Amino acid sequence: MQNNILSGIVPFSIDGVAVRRPVVVAGPCSAETERQVLATARELARAGVRIFRAGVWKPRTMPGGFEGVGRRALAWLKKVKEETGMLVATEVATSEHVVAALEAGVDILWIGARTTANPFAIQDVADALEGHDEATVFVKNPVNPDLELWIGALQRVYNAGVRRLGAIHRGFSAYGEHVYRNQPQWHIPLELHRLVPSLPILCDPSHMGGRREFIAELSQQALDMGFDGLMVESHCDPDAAMSDSSQQVSPTTLEAILRSLVVRDKHCSTESLAQLRQQIDSCDNELLDVLARRMAVCRDIGRYKQEHGMQVVQNDRYGLVLNSRVKRAAALGLGEDFVRAIMVAIHEESVNQQVKIVNRKGNDS
Ligand code: PEP
Ligand code: MN
Repeated sequence: MQNNILSGIVPFSIDGVAVRRPVVVAGPCSAETERQVLATARELARAGVRIFRAGVWKPRTMPGGFEGVGRRALAWLKKVKEETGMLVATEVATSEHVVAALEAGVDILWIGARTTANPFAIQDVADALEGHDEATVFVKNPVNPDLELWIGALQRVYNAGVRRLGAIHRGFSAYGEHVYRNQPQWHIPLELHRLVPSLPILCDPSHMGGRREFIAELSQQALDMGFDGLMVESHCDPDAAMSDSSQQVSPTTLEAILRSLVVRDKHCSTESLAQLRQQIDSCDNELLDVLARRMAVCRDIGRYKQEHGMQVVQNDRYGLVLNSRVKRAAALGLGEDFVRAIMVAIHEESVNQQVKIVNRKGNDS
C-alpha cells in the first residue's frame, strides 16, 4: 500500500483558521423543505455549530424511501450560508452531484459509505473533482470492514488533486440483529490513523448507533480515541424526519451532548489506556450480540424439537459441539479449559431456554 501518496493532506481549517477539536458537522439526514433546513440551521448556529450538513441526494437501501429533493435543495444550503455564515456540506455520489454542488457553492463534500465501496463510483466522483484543488472532501468508510477499500477511495480523490481531505468513520454493517446499527470496529479507523497520521478523522455516531440514545456515548468514545471531530444528524423536529428519524437529535439536545463531552489532549489519549478499553468494550458488545443471536437460534431449535416430540439434549451432538469448539479455540491460542468452561455454560443456558419451550403448554410456540 503506497500510503506516502496521501502525505500532502492539509489540516482542516475554516477561513484559514485551524478548527479546534472536535470539529462538529451537524444537520439533518436529508434536506426536506426550505423551512426545515433553515429552522434547523438557525438553531444549530445558535448552538455554536459552524458546519451544517444536509443530504440533498439520498442513497436508500430499499426503493420507495425518501430519496432527497435533489438539486432544488442546493439553493436552501446557499441561504443557510448567507444567513448563518456556517459552512455547508452535502453528500455526493456521482460526477453530476459534484458539479452541481460545487457550482452552488457547497463548501464540503462527503462521499457516502455505499459509494466508497464502489471504485467505479468513486472514480467518477474523483474525475469530476479534477481541477477543483480547493475542494474539501470527506470520505466515509465503506459499508464493509475493508480498510484497503477505504484508503483506495481516499487515494482516488487525492490523485484528483484534492488536498483538503478527511475521513468519516460511521461503522460497518453486519448481518442480523446488533445493538448498534453499524459496528464500530474501532481498530480499523485507528489503523487508518496509524498509516496516515495527517488525515483528519471524524466519527458519525448517528449512523453508527442508529439510535439517538447512543450518540453521546459513541461521541465520547471517539474523542477518547483521538478522533478529530463528529458528524451528527440533527433535525428541528427529529421524530418527523423523512429519513433516519431515530438517530437524529434536536439542536438543543445536540448542544447538551456536546457540552457533556470531555475533550482530552489528543497526544495523551492516542494509544492510551482509554483507547484500549474502548476496544475491550467493543469486543464485549460483539460477544453479547453473538450470544443473543446464538440463543435465538437455540429457541428456534427448541420449537422444532417440541413440534417433532424430540428430547432437548442430544448427547452425540453436544459432544461434537464441545470437542470441535475446543479444537478450534486451541488454533486461536485460547486455553482449552477456559473455552470448555465457556461452552459448557453456553450449552447449559441453551438447554434451559429449550426446556422452557418444550414444556410450554398450548399452542403459543
Ligand atoms: C448520511 O450521512 O446521511 C448517509 C447516508 O450516511 P452513510 O453513507 O454513512 O450511510
Ligand atoms: Mn442519514
